[in-house]
Amino acid sequence: MNKIKQKKVIALVAHDHRKKDMMEWVAYNWKELVPHTLMCTGTTGKLVQETIHEKCAENEIIPPDVVRLKSGPLGGDQQLGAFISEGKVDMLIFFWDPMQPQPHDVDVKALLRISTLYNIPVATNRSTADFIISSKLFHQQYAPIIKDYSSYIMRDVKM
Ligand code: PGA
Repeated sequence: MNKIKQKKVIALVAHDHRKKDMMEWVAYNWKELVPHTLMCTGTTGKLVQETIHEKCAENEIIPPDVVRLKSGPLGGDQQLGAFISEGKVDMLIFFWDPMQPQPHDVDVKALLRISTLYNIPVATNRSTADFIISSKLFHQQYAPIIKDYSSYIMRDVKM
């Protein structure tokens, strides 16, 4: 069972038409985000880094690590999914675009699927992100219950 520790790894991903939303959210919540490690797809990460660094510089605070993966359509969503399956990501804030088809739609679906499978908190819009970040659980350790898949792994596969 993975434990969500007090210092968390928070994944932030936003499609292009949702990046403005994401940066407003990050700028508003920067104080809550600073104690954690932020893991982002490439372009989202660049913007998150700029936004957080600006706030930290204004307030003379050491900025948090921002891990930048590949850009989403170039494999970043899949990299993130792999980290989630290894228990290395504690929550996902993913502002995907419900109005535009994406070249990597299958990767988007896979990312949402793997987040559900590993039972990490996921926000796909600002209200849910607000609820997650203002939850008292956000500041605590938490052990998500992960379904036991051992019987699936041990199933008898007839050849
Ligand atoms: P990006 O990728 O942050 O590199 O723009 C986001 C995505 O489409 O998954």
